[in-house]
Amino acid sequence: MSALETALAAWRSALGEAHVVTEPEALAAAETATFATTQRIPAILRPANTAEVQACLRIAQEHRVPVYPVSAGRNWGYGSRVPPRDGCVLMELGRMNRILGYDEKLAYLTVEPGVTFRQAHAWLRAQGSRLFITSIGGSPDASMVGNALERGDGRGPHADIFQHVCGLEVVLPTGERLETGHARFPGARAAPVFRWGVGPSLDGLFSQSSLGVVTRMTFWLARKQPYFREFFCSVDEDAQLWERVDRLQALALDGTLRSSFFFWNDIKALSVTQQYPYAAVGGRTPLPTWALEQFREGFGRWAISGALHAPDEDMGAVLERRLTTALEGLSRPLHLSPPPPDGESPFQGVPTDANLAMAYWRKRTPRPEEPHPDRDRCGFIWCSVALPFTGEEAQRAVGMAERVPRLFGFEPNLALLAHSPRCLYLVVAISFDRDGRGEDDRALACYRALARELSTAGYYPTRLGLQAEGDALPSADDSAVILRRLKQALDPAGILAPGRYEPGSPEKDSE
Ligand SMILES: Cc1cc2nc3c(=O)[nH]c(=O)nc-3n(C[C@H](O)[C@H](O)[C@H](O)COP(=O)(O)OP(=O)(O)OC[C@H]3O[C@@H](n4cnc5c(N)ncnc54)[C@H](O)[C@@H]3O)c2cc1C
Repeated sequence: MSALETALAAWRSALGEAHVVTEPEALAAAETATFATTQRIPAILRPANTAEVQACLRIAQEHRVPVYPVSAGRNWGYGSRVPPRDGCVLMELGRMNRILGYDEKLAYLTVEPGVTFRQAHAWLRAQGSRLFITSIGGSPDASMVGNALERGDGRGPHADIFQHVCGLEVVLPTGERLETGHARFPGARAAPVFRWGVGPSLDGLFSQSSLGVVTRMTFWLARKQPYFREFFCSVDEDAQLWERVDRLQALALDGTLRSSFFFWNDIKALSVTQQYPYAAVGGRTPLPTWALEQFREGFGRWAISGALHAPDEDMGAVLERRLTTALEGLSRPLHLSPPPPDGESPFQGVPTDANLAMAYWRKRTPRPEEPHPDRDRCGFIWCSVALPFTGEEAQRAVGMAERVPRLFGFEPNLALLAHSPRCLYLVVAISFDRDGRGEDDRALACYRALARELSTAGYYPTRLGLQAEGDALPSADDSAVILRRLKQALDPAGILAPGRYEPGSPEKDSE
């Protein structure tokens, strides 16, 4: 028997026949992302608990069969469930979907990796909780843990999601188990509320990494505030935008804006409201300027959106005044929505799939009731980089992100996200139709050109997907060697997610 066949027999006896999937249809679905990939997956493992994850990894190590873990596997735009290397067995953690801990006063929730944003939101509502999770623009059925491990970005006061987690339980590729922070001490009372513990802090080692499988995580939540208003404002000219970026950064730093806020360009806004108007433009792509200008008449060139939170109406009124002053001078006034019933809003934890519409922008078939971009052959690639939070830096990076997609026949779909008072994310979406001839190749070429131009200018990625495979980031220090040494120490057989966030080969670095 081959090593794989022996391992499959061992996994079947550890998990039960039903949880080692080898049906061709299921494998083909797991091998499909929102851009072209060639990796094949020989089987899918579905462990139900930490002990089963340990057993799976011990078997993988013994037989030297690589395993790629995902939680809900909705990493759309970054490679979905497809492993970085051919022949990896997929480990899906969706069955581990228990909520393990919750405290209303101390505002935390401890979950397994299969817990989705939709599930956590519904669960908190059922408790009558005033707490809320950070919601994302991606699928409500994405995993909170998978998202946090990728250092995802969300809406609300905890936009930097990984900044608000602690107490990880991790299974190492050897099958050993470790817990981070105080969680490693028996009976530790402060494990879910104190991140650092004693000694080296290990949490970061397991995010954007191939060093362990995370089987539990505690999320610190925010509490709904008595005063809450969503705001929206549009900007007609680029020139007016950069100054507003600086003014809003100042409001983030002084605490007026404590929740995330966003700057969306016209194309991004258009792509969530409708699909590409093929008929109106005679089938031409990319979108002609006149068609975009028609849309801008109602919308503007950029939209700024976010939310204000305060412990009472008086403080809320002060925040409103400060925000109104910062946005003065625009042709369209700041709009503040009335408070939503029971404070239910995407800025207060309500998951929504509204933004998934942008993955269907270039499709010629209508967007289905239940979007699933892998299944529907949507073409979608993210390119996300970090910038210092200034209007000048935003202008420079946006200039590149506006130009490069057009060279490849795509519309620039851009967002600037206030990730913290110091850091902005520039997030570019390349949206295309995988059924269009040559589109897969053109979109990947576009991604590579854009990522290269941005990194040459000093704007490096916030996270990587399969689209970045083979493009080793340059390093100016010894980090590549040290990261390789860490991988060797924790994963001596090299069986966990080979190629995922691993630095390039030594030869490549010295080229
Ligand atoms: C239109 C659209 C909008 C989006 N908006 C956002 C957004 O606002 N914010 C955002 O962050 N993302 C966004 N995304 C990207 C993506 O959909 C989300 O990041 C989503 O949360 C990732 O899927 P998941 O949570 O199911 O993670 P998974 O796919 O389960 O995991 C992601 C990766 O993390 C690793 N991993 C997962 N689980 C484990 C584990 N237990 N142990 C070790 N490693 C693990 C693996 O490398 C895996 O590939 C968007 C995508 C689309 C298409």
